[in-house]
Amino acid sequence: MSENLLLFGPPGVGKGTQAVRLAGVFQIPHIATGDMLRAAIQSYTPVGQRAKEFIDKGQLVPDQVVLALIAERLAHSDTARGFLLDGFPRTVPQAEALGGMLSGTGKKLDHVLVLHAPDEELVSRIAGRRICESCQASYHVTAKPPKKPGVCDRCGGMLIQRSDDSESIIRNRLREFAAKTKPVIDYFLANGWPVRKIDANGNMDQIFGRIYAAVLLP
Ligand code: AMP
Repeated sequence: MSENLLLFGPPGVGKGTQAVRLAGVFQIPHIATGDMLRAAIQSYTPVGQRAKEFIDKGQLVPDQVVLALIAERLAHSDTARGFLLDGFPRTVPQAEALGGMLSGTGKKLDHVLVLHAPDEELVSRIAGRRICESCQASYHVTAKPPKKPGVCDRCGGMLIQRSDDSESIIRNRLREFAAKTKPVIDYFLANGWPVRKIDANGNMDQIFGRIYAAVLLP
């Protein structure tokens, strides 16, 4: 089954964790702009250097930078059997550009899944988050601990806290979300994109069950 999916929601709502599982079930590529930008930073590319100054402050990276990455990624042949977008679009101009890219290739989104949870819950989820330095797998000190403390279950890499996951930066990211990203939901609705709101309270299995049910619904 081919599915073009979009996971949308504030930082810390669990998009990344759910996206990995969802992409695995549907066997579609997981396209996360945050992961792509962090990989660019690690490889010291010009895009990475440009992005770092924004990410470190908890600000959104300029649209042109992100759009160039996404346009290239969506042109890969592996997206022909579907894809899962995570963390993109984050501004109305990004959503408009995505709409143009999709219609230009005769594609459309099958589901836009909008996850929501209270701000205080988001802050505590982000504060406990750890990621693998090598493969970017995501953990949480209490909700999803690794088998061996500080070590990635998947690749044995070292677990670190993202530099933008500190409490002061988190607040900035939530402000950016409220100001620039939340209005994208109105854009989706005004343009007839297939939005489904998902309650992201609860444990990871419960949330996944809600997402999966929403995707299977016609
Ligand atoms: P994430 O891993 O999705 O939480 O993204 C981490 C950071 O990367 C964000 O706080 C932004 O600074 C930047 N970023 C990721 N995706 C985008 C996007 N679509 N537009 C602008 N900035 C982005």
